[in-house]
Amino acid sequence: MKKITAILDNQLTEILKKIGILEDIHTGKYTCISCGEVITIENFSTISESEDGVFVITCTKSSCRDESKG
Ligand SMILES: [Zn+2]
Repeated sequence: MKKITAILDNQLTEILKKIGILEDIHTGKYTCISCGEVITIENFSTISESEDGVFVITCTKSSCRDESKG
């Protein structure tokens, strides 16, 4: 997986827009890969893209961020 992370709040919406999932975030389409919580702009932490183009997102809980590493 390639990482797209290290996101500042004011850049987040721009990045999400650029990769085409901003609408999906707003509509609650994405959930945390670790805990299953619905991802919003507020609790968005990290995003990775799998080789088949699926975005994997974690929320801001430390346990979830840890899980996204490696
Ligand atoms: Zn989570």
